[in-house]
Amino acid sequence: MSAPWKADEVLAELWAGNRRFQRGEAEGPRRDSRRRTSIAGEQSPRAAVVACSDSRVPPELLFDQGLGDLFVVRLAGNVIDGDALGSLEYAVDHLDVPVIVILGHSRCGAVGAAVRGGNAATHMGGILASLQPAIEATVALPGDPVANAAREHVRRLVAGLAARSPVLRGRMDAETLTVVGAYYDLDTGAVERLEP
Ligand SMILES: [Zn+2]
Repeated sequence: MSAPWKADEVLAELWAGNRRFQRGEAEGPRRDSRRRTSIAGEQSPRAAVVACSDSRVPPELLFDQGLGDLFVVRLAGNVIDGDALGSLEYAVDHLDVPVIVILGHSRCGAVGAAVRGGNAATHMGGILASLQPAIEATVALPGDPVANAAREHVRRLVAGLAARSPVLRGRMDAETLTVVGAYYDLDTGAVERLEP
């Protein structure tokens, strides 16, 4: 079965939605009762988005999307643990999602905590450990250490996804899955696409 959505079209639509959101012209599409009813029996999301749990980073709002449009996986620091990876595999393998967007953001509290060497003895330890490689890789860079690490973390997630999941790798090899990194600026509302 071919995916109902094409990756290039989906990405263009998401970024068009983000431009509306930035300008304060969000349309809030596909959120009425008719839409709810039409997708109640079956979902066909056009993209999966991995985002931080941060209350300021809700993907449906940032990309001006509606009900049933996005399959969203959210954990603090937009980390991708085993269950998050399984969720992505479900979106790709069962729902034929053609795009995964991995979205980091500015002033991320989880990344900030990891930069400061947060308390790994709590349940946050796993999150901090997941962020550690990006922090170590950017520690010598000039500029904002949290922004640098957040961007690096996204790049590493994108680069490492295929090796972690044969399911995702199979779709990427078949060119029916595109994985992109992105970075959201809390101040401007802009989502910037990160090059690999
Ligand atoms: Zn965050």
